[in-house]
Amino acid sequence: MLKVSKFGGSSLATGEQVRQVCDIITADPDRRLVVVSAPGKRHSQDIKVTDLLIAAASERLMGKIGASECAEAIERYRNIATELELPAKVVDPIASDLTQRLESDTDDTDLYMDIMKAGGEDNCARLIAQVLQAHGVEAHYVNPKDAGLLLSDEPGNAQILPEAYTRLRSLSERPGITIFPGFFGYSKDGHIVTFSRGGSDITGAILAGAVRATVYENFTDVDSVFAANPSIVSNPTPISELTYREMRELSYAGFSVFHDEALEPVYRAMVPVHIRNTNNPDAAGTRIVPKRTANDNPVVGIAAMNDVCFVYLSKYLMNRQIGFGRRLLQILETENISFEHIPSGIDNMSVILREENLPLDKEKRVVEKIRQTLAPEDVYVERDLSLIMVVGEGMQHTVGVASRATSAFADANVNIEMINQGSNEVSMMFGVKSTGMEAAVQALYKEFFNGSYNS
Ligand code: ASP
Repeated sequence: MLKVSKFGGSSLATGEQVRQVCDIITADPDRRLVVVSAPGKRHSQDIKVTDLLIAAASERLMGKIGASECAEAIERYRNIATELELPAKVVDPIASDLTQRLESDTDDTDLYMDIMKAGGEDNCARLIAQVLQAHGVEAHYVNPKDAGLLLSDEPGNAQILPEAYTRLRSLSERPGITIFPGFFGYSKDGHIVTFSRGGSDITGAILAGAVRATVYENFTDVDSVFAANPSIVSNPTPISELTYREMRELSYAGFSVFHDEALEPVYRAMVPVHIRNTNNPDAAGTRIVPKRTANDNPVVGIAAMNDVCFVYLSKYLMNRQIGFGRRLLQILETENISFEHIPSGIDNMSVILREENLPLDKEKRVVEKIRQTLAPEDVYVERDLSLIMVVGEGMQHTVGVASRATSAFADANVNIEMINQGSNEVSMMFGVKSTGMEAAVQALYKEFFNGSYNS
């Protein structure tokens, strides 16, 4: 039996938390492959080590030194070491490593930024290995390069290269406990490259898939995944079991407990995921599995994603024009804009985008190109929208889910701007004005979870 256990930044923010993590690791002999994030926030006003390193790198890239931000990051490790009563010298190599990163070559700004970002996880993994060793536990830090974690050459958004899986497999044969830094790997050229933010979840999932772990334990700071965002619905019901597809839909639309890119490697290898709380390891947590036990509720969760916009266009007899959609999407592709969904009518189409992908200068160019290339009767962009997703495998076999959902919108007096349901019937998506999002989520929660809500 081999468990891969990943600990998030909030689980590693203080000496006390690190102690708790080490207790969890050593409590189960199957926990032999451990992935760690960089120390996260100690309280809501705090700054994550990764953000301090990004700030230091940005300063340096602006021609300044960035030393104070870097020193603050080093201080975070020093505090952890002091709280754990480790000798002061354990922080020396961390300090020199981070300083060296800060002073490294800045010619390629993206690669430089990734060298800095990766420093948080890399030094955290080294420190955790030392803490365990100080307690007589056989633990070893492993560098992702030596382990063969090969990634695409896309700084800040790297993807796993298929050959990495074979290389990583031998991690299961290492003696003792392997402590592996999350969030980064190496390109074929040997450069450090990071995943997107929050990417330590992805590292854990890749390792779990590669070694065919019995389970991928993802330790975080909540007891479970909840059926709705607790800042919108108070005391939402915990979800004990979810399928991969349900989790994918929920994390896509804002359930940030688990990175959406982390599902693919575990799904391919059919490794179950167990989301657990470092501060309450006895809680049942949430299991993400290929198939779950059905219950009476067709809906498992309600998610909402903000900062969405759409480009709307209409043209009479659009349905007869071959290549209309392709030309529209080509305009977006030329502008390097990725799109989310394309709900359409007979003579109209809306392309839904994340607002961050359509800044105002791009909007101007896109609208102009649409006018020139497609000559629509109408074209405009609408902003400040939210997408609300009602998710659950049970919808496939249940009549009336859409009707219950739309009544909930009506009860909340929220106008639905757009409805979309994928043919897999795992989710139903509604576009609303952002101002109506909270009321709609609360009404949907009440409808499907029989709950009261007082946010
Ligand atoms: N430390 C990285 C971040 O803050 C990755 C992670 O925590 O998973 O994005």
